[in-house]
Order: sequence, then structure tokens, then C-alpha cells
Amino acid sequence: MYDVIIIGGGPAGLAAGIYASRARLKTVILEKLLPGGQAAVTDFIENYPGYPEGIRGPELTAKMQEQAEKFGCEIKSDEVVAVDVKAKQVTAASDVYEGKAFIIATGADPRNLNVSGEKDLTGRGISFCATCDGALFSGRTVAVVGGGDSAVKEALFLTKFAAKVYVIHRRRELRAEKIIQEKAFENAKIEFIWDAVVTEILGETRVQKVKVENVKTKEESELAVDGLFIYIGRVPNTSLFDVEKDNGYIVTDENMCTSVEGVFAAGDCRKKQHRQVATAVGDGAAAAMSAEEYIAGLE
Ligand code: NAP
Repeated sequence: MYDVIIIGGGPAGLAAGIYASRARLKTVILEKLLPGGQAAVTDFIENYPGYPEGIRGPELTAKMQEQAEKFGCEIKSDEVVAVDVKAKQVTAASDVYEGKAFIIATGADPRNLNVSGEKDLTGRGISFCATCDGALFSGRTVAVVGGGDSAVKEALFLTKFAAKVYVIHRRRELRAEKIIQEKAFENAKIEFIWDAVVTEILGETRVQKVKVENVKTKEESELAVDGLFIYIGRVPNTSLFDVEKDNGYIVTDENMCTSVEGVFAAGDCRKKQHRQVATAVGDGAAAAMSAEEYIAGLE
């Protein structure tokens, strides 16, 4: 029996782990892969307070993990398959866990383009992680789809390896932070293809080209690329949780309380405006403090 079960080991879950274990609550983080979440596959993070020179994503999350474990938080690699939020019971691949309070910090997965060729060529030129796969495209031509922070940041990262990086965006204006936009506009390797969407991905055994449609003129063209990196937002990992949601995102109040007593949510899986490592960490801390108060109330 745990006091707090945290589902998901990204920055929100790890921050919750630090706070809950420092409150001397018996705490476990269940993570299906390695802890760190999206931040762990982000090359470089320049806006996390305390690191004026920036820090590599994997290094930042490894420090968070070390800090949580230092205070006694258990971190288990176990894939959660069913959750009973009312009975506070989690069934995972190798064990069943019971707790007094839950903190859901499951984040979000990359959104697919849902175009022909995407399923077959994923892992064969199509990637959702420049940090993981960028080095495979040394001297090659790649395209990134999207206009948000992820797309533009990862396009910049890809210029370390690729000879040419196209950024295909469905509007003429980027959503990414201005400072990131400026860097991309200054980078000679990056070429923007505006008002355009990818309609098909072509290749025999690997990606060879993408079909691109101009959304204004409806003109279609083909672009020869060796790799395609898709960064068009994320879909929350919340299907296992029977709590109130909006568009898949878990609804909470400002103290991270969900519609079910003793169940809290933190980070990117939560309905909110801003999704940053710094905001995820704030959510995690607040969720753990709310869980602590909830458990104290039970006693
Ligand atoms: P995002 O901000 O939601 O951006 C998604 C981008 O994909 C948008 O430009 C959107 O176009 C485009 N898009 C969505 N659906 C599309 C489709 N079907 N076809 C083509 N394009 C499509 O997602 P994100 O970049 O993954 O970022 C997620 C959150 O993490 C954001 O809050 C972001 O600020 C944060 N983040 C921050 C940093 C940082 O360093 N500060 C880094 C990474 C992520 P429209 O613009 O036209 O909607």
C-alpha cells in the first residue's frame, strides 16, 4: 500500500515524486519506459530557470530523477494497463498497486498526420524524435512538419546533421516562441514552405519524397527528402482514467484536483494553456502538496 501513486515519470511526475517523498509519504512513480518524458528526448532546454547556459533535456530529467530517489521515491518500470480511480487501484503489466492518492502525470504522445505512407514508413525515414534519430540524417535532406515550439526547435537541432531542413507549416505564421523563430529564420540550412500540408509520404523501403499541397492555391508538388520529422502537437495519454476530461485533457482546479477525490493530475495531460517543463514541474509540486493534504484529511 502506497500513500501516493504517481503515474508517469516526466518532469510533472518527478517533481510530484520529490515533493511527496520529502513529505515522508510512501511514494511510487510508475513509468512504462524510462523516466524523463518528452523533456528527456529534447536536445537542449534554454528556458528552465536555474540554467542560464541551458541544459540538455536528458541531463535535466536525470537530475530530477536522482533528486526524487534521494528522498526515497520509488521509480518502477511497469506499464499501467487499468486504473480504478475510485478504489485507488492500478493494474500494471507486472503488479497491482494500491494507494491512498493518485497523481496522473501521463503527458501526451505525438499526434500523427494520418496520411498515406505514414504508418508503413515510421521508423524508415519518418520520426517523431529528432534527438533520437537526427544523427542518422548526416548530410541528408529532411523535412519537419509543424510550426510550434517543437517543430522549429527540432528543425534547428536537425541542422547540426542534415544538409538541408525544410519546415512545412500550414500557415504563414509560426506558433513557436519568437526567440526560436529568429534563430530559425537566420539559419541558412532551413527553408520554410508556408501554407502547406503533407498529403502523402512516398518511398519503397524508406522515405523518398513527400507530396505537399498549398492550402490556398490547392497546388500539389513533390519534395524529395530522406527523412520526415512530424511535430504537429500531442494527444493526451488519459484514456485509462475515468475522470472529467475536455477534449481528452483532464480537467482540474488550480490545486490539481480532478473530479474524483484523492485523484490529482499534473503536466501535459491536464487541461491548461501552457505546456512547458517549468509549468509541468509547478503542476507536479502542487499536485503532491494537494495529495499530502488529502491524505492528512483521511487520517
Ligand atoms: P503545438 O504548440 O500545439 O504546435 C503544433 C503545430 O503543428 C502548430 O504549428 C500547428 O499549426 C501544427 N499542426 C497541428 N495539427 C496539424 C496538422 N494536422 N497538419 C499540419 N500541421 C498541424 O505543439 P508542440 O510544438 O508539440 O508544443 C506543445 C507544447 O509544448 C506547447 O505548449 C509548446 O509551447 C511546448 N513546448 C515548448 C518548448 C520550449 O522550448 N519552450 C519546446 C517544445 C514544446 P497551427 O499553428 O496552424 O495551429
